[in-house]
Amino acid sequence: MRPFSYQRVSDAAAAVRAQGAFLAGGTTLLDLMKLDVMQPHALVDINDLSGEFGAIDYGSQGLRLGALVHMNIAARHPDIVQNYPVISQSLLLAASAQLRNMASLGGNVLQRTRCSYFRDTSWSRCNKRNPGSGCAALEGVNRKHAVLGTSPNCIATYPGDFAQALVALDAVVETAGPQGARRIAFADLHVPPGDDPSRENTLRPGELITFLVVPALPFARRSLYLKIRDRQSYEFALTSAAVALDLNGDTVREARIALGGVATRPWRAREAEASLRGKPLNQATAQAAAQAAFSSAVTHGGNDFKPELGRRTLVRALLEAGALRV
Ligand code: SF4
Repeated sequence: MRPFSYQRVSDAAAAVRAQGAFLAGGTTLLDLMKLDVMQPHALVDINDLSGEFGAIDYGSQGLRLGALVHMNIAARHPDIVQNYPVISQSLLLAASAQLRNMASLGGNVLQRTRCSYFRDTSWSRCNKRNPGSGCAALEGVNRKHAVLGTSPNCIATYPGDFAQALVALDAVVETAGPQGARRIAFADLHVPPGDDPSRENTLRPGELITFLVVPALPFARRSLYLKIRDRQSYEFALTSAAVALDLNGDTVREARIALGGVATRPWRAREAEASLRGKPLNQATAQAAAQAAFSSAVTHGGNDFKPELGRRTLVRALLEAGALRV
C-alpha cells in the first residue's frame, strides 16, 4: 500500500474542492488500492454527506435516489420493490449482503471491471491500467469478457447489475463539480473503450455523483432483472437482462431492454426494443428481439458461448416479464 492522505468532508463544496478520490463504501476503491491498481494520493471521505445525498424520494415525478444510499436500503425500499422491481432485483443480485450494506449507489455504478489482467499488476499488458501497453485478454483467458461494444484495445466487461436497470429506464445522473451542478443521461455516463480504455466515464475531475433520478414509468411495475452466473450465491453476471414492458393485451407498446455481463458498458439493446414494438409478445418475437440484440457481437474464443447464452437469457426475461401479474 502506498502512502495517501485522508480527509473527511462535511459538505459537497468541500468535497469537490478537495481534489482526491471520493471514498463512500470503499468496496471497489479499497480493494483496488490494496492490489496497487489504483494509487490515489488523497482520499476524500464523503460519508458525512449522507444528510444531503442519503435519502430516497418517490412521487409523481418518479424516483430520486441519493448517491450515498446503501444498496440494501434501496433494494428493500417498498416503493422501489413495488414500482421498479427491476431496480430492486438488480441490487439484490449484485452482491453479498455484507457488500450491499456497505456499498453506495453512486459508487456502485462506477465499479471497475473484474478483468483479471487489470486487477493483477504482475501483468504488464493492460491498456486500461497501463495505457498503450496492449491487451492481454485478447489472446488470453477471456471467458468472462465482453462481446458487445469492444474495441481492439479492450474487451473488459462492465461488471455491474444496477446500472442495467438504470440505463433501461432512462435514468439521469445529477452531479456536483468544480464548475457547478450538472445532469447527465445515464446512457452517457459510461463510455466505450475505443482508443483509450483507461477513460471509463464522462465525469470531470472533482465531479461527484449526488443523485440518480429515474422518471415516473408506471409500466415499470412490469419489469425484472434476470442474472445468469456460475453460482447462485454472489457472483458477477455471465449474462443478464433488465427488462420492462408496456403491454396492451399481449401486444408490446414499449419495451425497455438492457444487457449485462456481455458488454463494455451498461448496454441498452435498442434494436431489440424496436423489433418488439407493436408486436405480440411470444416465443418467436422474443427470439427475434434476442437475435437483434446480439447481431453485432464479436467473440474472442473463451467467450464464444456468450451470444447464445445472452439470447436465451433475454428470451426468458421477456417471457417472464410478459407473464407477470401487475
Ligand atoms: Fe486490460 Fe481491458 Fe485488456 Fe482487460 S480487456 S487486459 S482491462 S485492456
